[in-house]
Amino acid sequence: RVLCVGVAVLDNMFAIDHFPAEPTKVFARNFRQVGGGPAANAAVTIARLGGKVSLWARVGDDGIGAGVIAELSHYKVDTSTIRRVPGRRTGVSAVMVDENGERFIIAFADRELDADPSWLPSQLPDEIDTVLCDVRWPAASEKVLRMALENRIPSVLDADLTNDDAVERLIGLSSHAVFSAPALRRLAATDDIEGGLRAAQSQTRGTVSVTLGADGFAWLEHGEVRRIRAFPIEAVDTLAAGDVFHGAFALALAEGHSTESAGQFAGAAAALKCTRWGGRAGIPTREELDEFITE
Ligand code: ADP
Repeated sequence: RVLCVGVAVLDNMFAIDHFPAEPTKVFARNFRQVGGGPAANAAVTIARLGGKVSLWARVGDDGIGAGVIAELSHYKVDTSTIRRVPGRRTGVSAVMVDENGERFIIAFADRELDADPSWLPSQLPDEIDTVLCDVRWPAASEKVLRMALENRIPSVLDADLTNDDAVERLIGLSSHAVFSAPALRRLAATDDIEGGLRAAQSQTRGTVSVTLGADGFAWLEHGEVRRIRAFPIEAVDTLAAGDVFHGAFALALAEGHSTESAGQFAGAAAALKCTRWGGRAGIPTREELDEFITE
């Protein structure tokens, strides 16, 4: 079982032909509302791939939050530790996806959505094999990463751009820090992937890695840069690709795989998701993924 910790929101997705060069009105070719948020998407990925998963998160006490929880339960994510914070609003985003599958996102997060993680259980549930934390709820992620350290279980940190201070604080607590390329660039103040990984490695005893979109995945192993190429696919929607990667990666670690084979499994899951429109709705099942890998 994997424990995911972080953010759950609602994404409003619009398919458009191309991004406008200046402010104007654009008609969408398609529209869909789906749940989002890095930790929530990763949790759905784990459930779809046949793993057991719990999500520790918060939403507002509005209708959106109720819908977000219902959708997660539908995917068989254990939502018993999602808190509905009184008087607060659930995070939402508008996601424009163009013809190449690239996205432009406007996100709203209620700043008053309680950041205090003291109501979370002070111990990990017994059966947890791996934890996965995003950096958008740093106080909870720190608490859970420390628990994982004490229990000597693997932990995946989704080291994303949104919260620089948190990345620096949390990277040393995780056994596997997975950077997005912009976050690694920001941390290391260099465009060079190898230099970035080495700078990140100087801050942790864990494994440091980076997802590189269509260029795949890279990590440091015994001081050497290792790479896995991305699956050659026609991307129609890259929303949640990173989250799917993190979820599948954490599940593979929980199943005892090495960084290399977890990276291969996660790259396949993320690539298959990119071939389908609709953010989270495109996350594959285990059967679909097995078929995709053997094709
Ligand atoms: P994020 O969604 O956080 O920006 P990336 O864009 O790095 O993350 O994508 C995460 C992973 O998804 C990549 O490491 C790769 O495995 C897969 N992926 C993303 N875009 C593509 C693509 N165009 N073709 C194949 N795989 C992709």
